[in-house]
Amino acid sequence: MNVILFGPPGAGKGTQAQLLAKRYGIVHLSTGDMLRQAVASGSALGQAVQKIMAAGSLVPDDIMIELIAERIEAPDCANGFILDGFPRTTPQAEALDAMLAEKGMSLDRVIWIEIDDAILVDRISGRFNCAECGAGFHDSFHRPKVEGVCDGCGAREFSRRKDDNAETVKARLEAYHEQTAPLLPYYRSKSIVETVDGSTQISDVAGRIETILEGV
Ligand code: AMP
Repeated sequence: MNVILFGPPGAGKGTQAQLLAKRYGIVHLSTGDMLRQAVASGSALGQAVQKIMAAGSLVPDDIMIELIAERIEAPDCANGFILDGFPRTTPQAEALDAMLAEKGMSLDRVIWIEIDDAILVDRISGRFNCAECGAGFHDSFHRPKVEGVCDGCGAREFSRRKDDNAETVKARLEAYHEQTAPLLPYYRSKSIVETVDGSTQISDVAGRIETILEGV
């Protein structure tokens, strides 16, 4: 099963992708996570994208397409994958189609997590992740069950994204509306888009997505 989770920053794509990856035993591919790892490692890629990400702008298509093309080649993607944060532009979507066609694969669903911009700033500014396993949490909506301890792996270190601040969020939302949202008609024309209300509880969104994917 090959699925794209589509939606603005803060819609819950990463959270839902983690749940789906567990449930279906398929790979969660987050281009944002890949880039953050590159920045943390200080690699040439990381150095090239650091400022762009800090500004909330999009990394150039050629870099992103190469990154995902390499990752999709890995054996663990053969059973299927959940894309989170890719594609974000028309050239990326077209390149993805070409890559999949070459491997005799296709996209099963694009799940559009729809949510109002007004809710997103609050959501984004409160979120944090386990530094060990990456599990996502939120100051108001999803605290660890035991304070200071990750529900997933028991680690006690957490981190917050540098670009999760009010100013950068504005730029990221602008990039979404200008460059990414226009992809919806592209996928609608393939009749694979399903819409989910992203303003509801994490478990409700997950339930709705599961129902959609039962039909795949
Ligand atoms: P995310 O974790 O998906 O919110 O991505 C964080 C940042 O990484 C974005 O604001 C962009 O700067 C960059 N990024 C991630 N995925 C892409 C992509 N597909 N195309 C361009 N830039 C991306």
